[in-house]
Formats: sequence, C-alpha cells, structure tokens
Amino acid sequence: MQTKRGIPVSPGVAIGRAVVVDAEDRPVPRRVVAPSQVEAEIARLEDALSSSIAELKKLQSETESRIGVELARIFTFHLGMLQDKHLTDQFRTMIREQRVTAEHAVFMTMRAEARKLRQVEGRLFQERVKDVWDLERRILGHLIGRATEALANLPHEAIVVAHDLTPSQTAGLDKDKVKALATDAGGRTSHTAILAHALGIPAIVGLEDLTSRVDSGDTLVVDAGRGVVIVEPDAGQLMQYREELAQQQQQQVTLAELADEPAVTTDGVEVKLLANIEFPYEVSTALAHGADGIGLYRTEFLYLASDLEPTEDQHYDAYVEALYALDGRPLVLRTLDLGADKMSNGMQYPGERNPFLGCRSIRLCLQNLPLFKTQLRAVLRASVEGDMRVMFPLISSVMELRQARMILSDVMEDLAEEGVPFREDIPVGMMVEVPSAALQIRSFLPEVDFLSIGTNDLIQYTVAVDRGNERIANLYSPAHPAVIQLIRDVVRAANRAKVEVSLCGEMGGEPEFIMLLLGIGLRAFSLTPPAVPAVKRVVRSVSINQCQRIARRVGSLESDREIHNYLREELRRIVPGAVGGRSIE
Ligand code: PEP
Ligand code: MG
Repeated sequence: MQTKRGIPVSPGVAIGRAVVVDAEDRPVPRRVVAPSQVEAEIARLEDALSSSIAELKKLQSETESRIGVELARIFTFHLGMLQDKHLTDQFRTMIREQRVTAEHAVFMTMRAEARKLRQVEGRLFQERVKDVWDLERRILGHLIGRATEALANLPHEAIVVAHDLTPSQTAGLDKDKVKALATDAGGRTSHTAILAHALGIPAIVGLEDLTSRVDSGDTLVVDAGRGVVIVEPDAGQLMQYREELAQQQQQQVTLAELADEPAVTTDGVEVKLLANIEFPYEVSTALAHGADGIGLYRTEFLYLASDLEPTEDQHYDAYVEALYALDGRPLVLRTLDLGADKMSNGMQYPGERNPFLGCRSIRLCLQNLPLFKTQLRAVLRASVEGDMRVMFPLISSVMELRQARMILSDVMEDLAEEGVPFREDIPVGMMVEVPSAALQIRSFLPEVDFLSIGTNDLIQYTVAVDRGNERIANLYSPAHPAVIQLIRDVVRAANRAKVEVSLCGEMGGEPEFIMLLLGIGLRAFSLTPPAVPAVKRVVRSVSINQCQRIARRVGSLESDREIHNYLREELRRIVPGAVGGRSIE
C-alpha cells in the first residue's frame, strides 16, 4: 500500500483498477504485466513494429521522389535496425523474461543501444545516437497511440493514470467506463481538470511520479476530497472508502433534488446560475443539474478533439445542436481560445518561448482572419436559431476589442450581401481575464453588452503563476487579495454602468467563494455543470446582508490563507455540510 498526495480538481471518491497511459516524450517506467498478458504485450509489440516499418517505407519512397536518394538513406538505416532480429529479439526476450510492458522493453533496449553508440568515437556514431532516439520515439508513438485509442473503448471500468492527458485524449475518454483520473502533471485549472469536472468524475492532478508507482491492473482509491491516491489499499481502507462512496451517492441524490428549485437568496434576490460546456452534448447534463442556460461555451474544443480544422458547416452544426438542446435558454458562445495549453494535434504553430504570453486566443484569431471569419460566419448563421450571444476571450486592450468587433461587422456585411439571415443585434461581450482589461474596465463598458470574468486566467496573470504547473500550484489562489480586488472593481463598475457581468472561472464552482462574490455584487455565475447544485444550495441558504458583511471582512484581510480559511469557516457555520475540497494549512 502506498499513498500519493496531489491537487484535487474534481471532487468525489472512486475505487477501481488502474489503466496506465505512458507518454512518448518521457522515460517509460518499468511496469510488470500479469503472466496471462505476456502474449498480448508481444502482439502489441509486433503490431507497433510492423506499423513503424510501413511508415518508414512510405517516408523513404516519398523522400526519394521529392528530395532525392541521398536524404532518403536515413530511413534505410532506420528500416535496417527494425528489420534486425538481433535488436527486435531483445524486445521480445525482455517482455517474456521480465514480464514488462512492450513500451518499457523498447525504451530500455533502445537506450542501451544509444549508450553503446555514444561510447564509440567519431561524428558518424554520435549522429547515429540521434537516429536511435528517433526510432525509439516512432515505435513508442505507435504503442502509446494504440493505448490512447483504447481509452475510448475500455473493456472494463477503470481509473486512468497518465503523466498528463492532452485535451483530445481527455475528450475521447470512454465516459461510461472511466471512474476517475489521476495525472503526474497539471494544476487546478488545467484542461484535464476542467474536462474531468465537466464529466463529473473525481480527478487529482500534480501527483508528480504516480505513473512510475502504478501498474495497469493495480487497485486504486482516488480520494479527491483529501487529494490522495492510494495504491493497493488494505482491506480496512477499502471498507472505509466503500462506505464513503455510498454516502457520496446519497449526497448526489439530495443535491439533485435542488435542480428544479430557484436560485434565490433567503432575502429574495435572484441569482443566475449558468453552466460551462466544451461540447454541445453537455447541454443536457447542464440542464439536468439545474442550470438556467450556458454562460461559457468553449468552442475551441471542436478543434482540440480532432486533428483536422473544422469546416464552417461543422461549426454551424455544433452551435445549432447546442441551441436546440437549450430550447430558448441563453448560449454564450466564446470564440476560439486556442494556443498556449489549448493546442490541437493538427495545428502547427511556430514554437513560442512564452506561449501563455504569446499569440494565443483572440490574438491568434486576429492574425488568422480566415480561421476567425469561418467561425464567425457559423456563429451568425446559427444566431437565428436561438438565444445566442458571442464573447471574445483574452481581450487586453480597447483596440483589440474594436478590431474583433470590426471583423464581426465585416462578416455580417458578407452574409447580408449573400442574403443569409442572421441576428444583427446579437449581444457582444468580452471576457475579463487579463489584468489590463480589469484595471481599465470603465473604457470597455460602453463598447460591450456584457462581461464575463475568467478567473482561471485572471489569477495566473495577476499572480504570475502558470495555471497548469503543479510545482507552484500552492501559489495559484483565487483568494489572493489582489485577485479579489480586481473582481470587486470590475463588478462595481459593471453594476454602476448597468452592464451584465458574470463570473465563469472554476472559482465560482467552489462553494466557499459564493458568499464573498454575492457580497461584492455578482448576481450571475457560469459553472461546471456538476457544481451547480452545491452552489445553488449556498445561494438558497444565505442573505445578501450576510454576504456583504463577509465581503467587508475579507476586504480587511491581507493573505490568501487568511481569506480562504475565513471563508471556509463562515460557510461551515452558515451552510453546514457544504464545505468540501481543499483547505490551506
Ligand atoms: C478563464 O480563464 O477563467 C476561463 C473561464 O476560460 P478558460 O479556462 O477556458 O481559459
Ligand atoms: Mg481563459
């Protein structure tokens, strides 16, 4: 039995067998398979070897005809190695004799080959070392690629353990079978975390070296309340967690009963609870959890889930599907927020030294007008099918907002000329997720119909903490006084100007922040769907007076730790049973 601590990002408890996914660009730890699995591992190896050979032959002939025989020779060397039985038998022997995974056998054998070559003098041999690494990546790519495909079609219920999951891996998970996620990397608002939350499955990230401590088939407990993963729990722990699971299911039933109740405070103030989605099929889950509509549709997931750029019609179909499912309720569609941590496999952008400060999101769209216009055409065409609103992400200056609006007007003109119907007065809003926009909010107000505060990014840019980096996750805090001050200023300014404002970061789904946010004047939230009932329970248990008192007290505190602990205490006192998740010790 071993226990590993990480960052809990989606609540709940799960017990199940592990399925471990290795990463192509990292050392592959030694993982033992059951004796009955050895032949299956050999078959996976043979499969990966023949796919690699076929791929190399294709590359060789393409290079020969396009560039010349000389350069194509590089592939002859790679093919020669793969067809050398002396080498490939080493893989097979290792799998059979040591009962390790095919990935580990390939990794260890190729590393040993590279070491041998490195000891030989001469430039040619040093170049060959790179070839060996290259070949190793190619075979591992096939082995791991198949493992990823298998995630979409799991034979049994499983807890997925990985170094990290790409958005497309997470999006492709077999949702009925995956009971929890546990990853070495990631932070509180990394996209694995957001998707796990949206799927309503427990998840812990930032577990550092969990993948090297777990073998596929091990029994795991994922306790996302306490932020721990237990590998091979003992009988006593299993019994305790089975009881917790039963309680968790009971609590979900109680919260589900709130779905049809209004979100109104004890003194009669209405609060709008909308939901965040990544895919149109999530609309039904959001409504089932009691959401009033969709306050953030992260449309970039249409790109992230596939290797190909979606066509205008594919955009249109997805948007109309969401609108129909909403049946007249609002849909706030955020335009593409690609780049930084949200990159698709098929999109090749030049590497940037600082991607979070780079050409991402609205900046990327403004530099790629065909990409942007394709989406805006689909948005406008779909706008006549329901209550659609459009929102631009990562706005950092008034000029940027004006530019985005101008492109929207250009697209409107094109559609009008073509006689395509669209809603001319479609509400246009912006996300406030960059400190420069928050600080200068008054200049934006006359130019937008609504605002949505994106705290996931606002926190990372205000405190200068990468939201996906597990090593500094303790510094990433929604309770940082500077973050709260920015939110308060934006809400006050918007309320005074009578411009609708909501908050759509993950912070809104943490019940301890709700009273503070109501106290500083927020009346609308967009949350990950499973968080809606718990937030509704808080709203229905408090008065605005109580919330304002809490907000005043928070204003006098100077550290995130004090603020967080104070908010948890108040919540525990006012809404017993609502406190979950992490505390800052
Ligand atoms: C945010 O930044 O708070 C947000 C809601 O957007 P995303 O998490 O997609 O960056
Ligand atoms: Mg954001």
